[in-house]
Amino acid sequence: MIENKVIVDLGAIRHNLFEIKRLAGSQSRVIAVIKSDAYGHGMIAVGQTLESSGVDSFGVFELEEALDLRKAHCRIPILLMKGITADEVSAAVEKRLTVALFQQDIAEKLSGAALKQGTVTPVHVKIDTGMGRLGVPWEDASDFLQGLLSLNGLLLEGIFSHCAVADEPDHPFTDEQIGRFLQVVKKTKQLGVCTDAVHLANSGALLARKGIDLGMVRPGILLYGSPPAEGLAGADSFKPAMTFKSRVTQVKKVPADTPISYGCTYRTRSTSTIATVPVGYDDGYSRMLSNKGEVLIHGRRVPIVGRVCMNLTMVDVSSLDGVSVGDEVVLLGAQGKERITAEELARRIGTISYEVYCMIGKNNRRVHVDSQKR
Ligand SMILES: *Cc1c(COP(=O)(O)O)cnc(C)c1O
Repeated sequence: MIENKVIVDLGAIRHNLFEIKRLAGSQSRVIAVIKSDAYGHGMIAVGQTLESSGVDSFGVFELEEALDLRKAHCRIPILLMKGITADEVSAAVEKRLTVALFQQDIAEKLSGAALKQGTVTPVHVKIDTGMGRLGVPWEDASDFLQGLLSLNGLLLEGIFSHCAVADEPDHPFTDEQIGRFLQVVKKTKQLGVCTDAVHLANSGALLARKGIDLGMVRPGILLYGSPPAEGLAGADSFKPAMTFKSRVTQVKKVPADTPISYGCTYRTRSTSTIATVPVGYDDGYSRMLSNKGEVLIHGRRVPIVGRVCMNLTMVDVSSLDGVSVGDEVVLLGAQGKERITAEELARRIGTISYEVYCMIGKNNRRVHVDSQKR
């Protein structure tokens, strides 16, 4: 039996959507970013929960993701944020997906496919205002938009851009990006292009209340209950949705100076009780937590000792009474009054909560529960 499981609380995700709506204001529409299997939380279950809770649209990267959502009867608009390749054009038109557009040749192919299928295909033009990743460089936006005006079959719904440092509230670059974006919005209006869907704010911008007056926001990580960076104001009302649990598989008492795990990097200082947990880096539990991380047993924190192995990790439970085989171990999430957050794990291994969620969420058996429906 596999003892490990990731539990995703859909009630927390619904709660977080309402918190996002409260922050963005009731007139603002929400594109829920559920790319990468909803940051490891399970795209279909999360998508269905959000859609039934009144979210306006979804943001994903891959055509495949959008097709899976449609197969699961999700009906709201889906924005393909990565754009599409030439061979994806006809499927995108057929399924009426919303395409992030920044290439003239793709625009022409989309137009052709839409005319052939006797339909119009919605597009959001992606503007690069300083992220340096995807999009029409902001200086070229007018020319690009002008080139689209003559193409039939395209429903130009609006434009969007992405912030590079919105998770650092004091960084001046976000305001610079917003300034560039507003210039483009102005030109877009002058060209007579629809500006129904104008969006920029990711979770960081949303918390910093930047770009939220554009009428649409595009958060990801806040839906899952984490701030985009630690210590950001306004993030406390969000609830983490993911818990990662296992069970103790062996307990043993060992004398002082006993080496633990590969490399003998840890030696017990005194007589100790060591519990073995069947979780390792194959389960997305980073080897960089060796001799660093903590887990929760009996509602208390206990330290990881020695290296994290592929499938096993040892913890020192000498501070606890009567730990036995089968006792619950929480590696991410709450137990009793204690909680280990994705931010804490991320800090210990030098990354961000996003990566922790993707690693743990995608490498384990997942179950969905709903704390709001009992
Ligand atoms: C991932 C992503 C988001 C969401 O970012 P968060 O920091 O998780 O809120 C928004 N827009 C684009 C284009 C993205 O790639």
